[in-house]
Amino acid sequence: MTCRDVVEGVAEYLADELDARTRRGLDRHLARCAECVAYARTYRDAIRFARAAYAEPETDVP
Ligand SMILES: [Zn+2]
Repeated sequence: MTCRDVVEGVAEYLADELDARTRRGLDRHLARCAECVAYARTYRDAIRFARAAYAEPETDVP
């Protein structure tokens, strides 16, 4: 498992759509690689923000 694999798989990982084997590999990589942990966290926060943005009425900030 490389950092590139994590980058490519992180969306499915966070959506819980990976098969068990890939997910395990990704978990193992995340246990060792701080960069990928940071990437996954940023990605998750971005998704959360996007969901919140769509859930709320549109606020127009100039
Ligand atoms: Zn990595």
